[in-house]
Amino acid sequence: MKKSKVLLIYTGGTIGMKEEEIKKSLKPFNFNQITNEVPELNKINCRIDAISFEKPIDSSDVNTYIWEEIGDNIYENYHKYDGFVVLHGTDTMSYTASALSFMFQNLDKPIILTGSQLPIGQVRTDGKENLITSIEIAAAKKNNESIIKEVALYFEYQLFRGNRTTKVSSQHFDAFMSYNFPSLADVGVNIKYNFNAFLKNNNKEFHYSKGFDPKVHVVFFYPGILIKEVMLSIVSSKSKIVILNSYGSGNLPTSQELYSFILEQSKKNKIFLNVSQCASGAIEQNKYENGENLKKVGVVGVKDMTIEAVIVKSMFLLNKFPNDNLKFIENFNFNIAGEFTL
Ligand code: ASP
Repeated sequence: MKKSKVLLIYTGGTIGMKEEEIKKSLKPFNFNQITNEVPELNKINCRIDAISFEKPIDSSDVNTYIWEEIGDNIYENYHKYDGFVVLHGTDTMSYTASALSFMFQNLDKPIILTGSQLPIGQVRTDGKENLITSIEIAAAKKNNESIIKEVALYFEYQLFRGNRTTKVSSQHFDAFMSYNFPSLADVGVNIKYNFNAFLKNNNKEFHYSKGFDPKVHVVFFYPGILIKEVMLSIVSSKSKIVILNSYGSGNLPTSQELYSFILEQSKKNKIFLNVSQCASGAIEQNKYENGENLKKVGVVGVKDMTIEAVIVKSMFLLNKFPNDNLKFIENFNFNIAGEFTL
């Protein structure tokens, strides 16, 4: 079999950071030093090419244009490589993974995001294993076809569907969880793939599309919140999509004022989505009266999507359907890349 070719795209993040000599704070360093730090890369049985952002970033600086830059880098090289590994900071990696999963539909090769909690140059780094295994997975083939054909995130011995992940720890090496969907692979002595969990593209054509409209407003609810303040923030935000970050299965405090407001604002063109503060489980607006009241005024429940996927999918669809709310909602309820459970 021919050697696989993998393209490594370094965007920044802890994995490639080093301590500034005087201040001791972490800053991104030049990509060339990553290959110096991991000579093991030369021993993997595949060809690895690498490109780097001119100015590597901390992923808290990621925005919609950076998603497009990563997307373009992959798209321009799509037919030249068998798989892609995107090195990315952990802070917003789940958002970028979601974005790439909507931009690249019906993939026939893997796009794997990874990073690390400790810089690759440090003795106890988790970066080496994350990087090496990600490359192995990106290169892995069976019957001459890539094993993984979707956007995935590899971290600390687990491969997840990217748009199902959430960063849950800034301390532990297993920093990511996928609460509502099983892992795509578990890594120990062997890489054990969970074939049943893989995304099926049913031979649909590969398709790349970009463009995000970030006019999305998230309202986090908590006991004691002033509904008047909530309404004020929604009106003054000018954002078309309002994401209500609710409790449990999609409940908010009872408020006739809020219901009338949602109805009135929907007529004025806003769309309200309901996503839970719970990391696991799904929105079920029928379950309690408080949730049902929201359904009655047209709030859309997001099923078991992560809040990261909800935000990014909203931006993606808002750019596609800026003036057609029905089309936005219809497409929002459509499973683009396995982001919710049917
Ligand atoms: N602040 C870093 C980033 O997200 C954290 C990390 O990479 O783990 O870029």
